[in-house]
Amino acid sequence: MSKFENKIVVITGSTRGIGLGIAHSFAAEKATVVVCGTKQDACDAVAETLRTTYGIASSGQAVNVSSADAVNDAFKAVLAKYGRVDVLVNNAGITRDNLLIRMSDDEWTDVLRTNLDSVFYTTRAVIRSMMKQRSGRIINISSVSGLMGNQGQANYAASKAGLVGFSKTIAKEYGSKGVTCNVVAPGFIQTEMIDALPKDYLDNIMSQTPLKRLGDVADIAGAVLFLSSESAAYVTGQVLAVDGGMSM
Ligand code: NAP
Repeated sequence: MSKFENKIVVITGSTRGIGLGIAHSFAAEKATVVVCGTKQDACDAVAETLRTTYGIASSGQAVNVSSADAVNDAFKAVLAKYGRVDVLVNNAGITRDNLLIRMSDDEWTDVLRTNLDSVFYTTRAVIRSMMKQRSGRIINISSVSGLMGNQGQANYAASKAGLVGFSKTIAKEYGSKGVTCNVVAPGFIQTEMIDALPKDYLDNIMSQTPLKRLGDVADIAGAVLFLSSESAAYVTGQVLAVDGGMSM
């Protein structure tokens, strides 16, 4: 039996980028994958690909994670359909970069709502069911920006650092109920999110990274699967930087 057979895994922001890579990795391990993004048709298309490629159960669940009501409705639907959530991966995130001096209220609020408020909403929506089943894995995707700070990302770094404090608190509150909560902090990973960055900026990042390359989605997916697996049963409240050594 594969490691994640019969496990229900919900991944926010799994229509593309890192989340999509995580979805493929869980599907390859025979998990039942709930694909989430803002658009139902995009979620359904990914779920269809996972079903046909890996022969697993998978469905799409559109949800705007920055809305408490939308999250509550979406998780009610997921719990009604599958009866449980074994693994929640909070991966959805956005950037709205600007120097503090020019940062608008909307740039600040959009990023905090999408990257941090969302994780409060989704975690709150699954925690009762995880407590009842006395098991659950929550993995929150932060960023090296949240650990080190990054020029132009006061909003993003604050949201990603906030996830660390949130996750450690959840680890302490629900460890006795069999729920673990850990953080993966990626460095610069090749996805649409960094496509907009200038080549010389990325070259500079690579030259300052001990492993001398950008990461790819498989690097992050490997860490998420480890933290979701039985091998990590005694790991909680930790931050695993997957960044080629950049933040050390
Ligand atoms: P991406 O390619 O831009 O994909 C973002 C995903 O989040 C999409 O599936 C998107 O759904 C979803 N999303 C955005 N806003 C949402 C909302 N309000 N409600 C629901 N879903 C929403 O990003 P990525 O590069 O894969 O990044 C994934 C995570 O890793 C993010 O949390 C990011 O901060 C973090 N991270 C990325 C890097 C990097 O170098 N790429 C580095 C460190 C950390 P739609 O397709 O529907 O828009």
